[in-house]
Amino acid sequence: MAKYTDAKCRQCRREGCKLFLKGERCTSGKCAMDRRPVVPGQHGAARKKVSEYGLQLREKQKVRRAYGLLERQFSNYYEKAAKSKQATGLALLQMLELRLDNVIYRMGIGSSRAEARQIVNHGHITVNGRKVNIPSYQVKVGDVIAVKENKKDLDVFKSLKEIKIVMPKWLEFNNETLTGKILALPERDDIDLNIQEHLIVELYSR
Ligand code: SF4
Repeated sequence: MAKYTDAKCRQCRREGCKLFLKGERCTSGKCAMDRRPVVPGQHGAARKKVSEYGLQLREKQKVRRAYGLLERQFSNYYEKAAKSKQATGLALLQMLELRLDNVIYRMGIGSSRAEARQIVNHGHITVNGRKVNIPSYQVKVGDVIAVKENKKDLDVFKSLKEIKIVMPKWLEFNNETLTGKILALPERDDIDLNIQEHLIVELYSR
């Protein structure tokens, strides 16, 4: 019988979709969502009926877990999004996408958001030439993101030169110079997770 020992894969199974929390394993044949895509727990496979509130809650948890945020951090983002002039759901997703750790992940510098966060935490990244070691740092259109000059020879970065990275259209990244740029704000269809953000808005509007 398949055995699930890792909490990250349990999070994907709980949310019923791949959240890509474990880097290369997520696209290998070892992904728990490919092998056993049922809710964890003794009665997971039997659970069927979900209330409206349950659907809203699950959608929020899915997004929160995908971006690796604590409850409080997520609700802070929501509060800011609700004050924005844009549609709240889109503003929320844009703020999450523009986190520095997410941008590093999207550029392919980390194989998962957790790894990207560690890279930022360790001070390997610069924004417009200045070291930034805050994963939640909000980047802006026009910002230049780079691996710090004296860190470029680390194995984790050297291997990027051999990898072909598919970049969202709002970003560019040169894997020779290990430098990238924010070209535009991410649009709704640039966000590849299957998210129904209106459910999150409904949840917080209760
Ligand atoms: Fe685990 Fe990644 Fe698959 Fe999620 S997507 S179940 S984290 S291997």
